Amino acid sequence: MEREFTSASFNQFLGEKKLMASKCTKCGALYLPPRPLCIKCFSSEMEWVEMKGKGKLAAFTTIYVGPTFMIEEGYDRNNPYCTGVVELEEGPGISARILGVDAKKPEEIKIGTPLVVDFVERGEGEAKRTYLAFKA
Ligand SMILES: [Zn+2]
Repeated sequence: MEREFTSASFNQFLGEKKLMASKCTKCGALYLPPRPLCIKCFSSEMEWVEMKGKGKLAAFTTIYVGPTFMIEEGYDRNNPYCTGVVELEEGPGISARILGVDAKKPEEIKIGTPLVVDFVERGEGEAKRTYLAFKA
């Protein structure tokens, strides 16, 4: 059964450790997170394609005051974390948590750093969710 092209399906795939994009079967445009409708040619004929999970850092920010779940993980003013936009080998960019870089030394984080996908699991049982991250 085909899954709907929504962020809910995208998150479901993350739980299966798959980074999936929707691809327009008419013009080939890739959407990540997936879209049900192509904004280039207005076709609604989409298919799922799995991304290889390799890319490079296109932009980043270090975050000192994050959302509650990040504070609960121990991130704060003294222990910042990094999020960024990853440009995938297949073309599209996606924002994700960036691991394996020192968020305390943003001057040492280089645009263009090669990254590979990582799936971060948080919580237990019913509350378990998988978050998209990339690591250097
Ligand atoms: Zn299209």
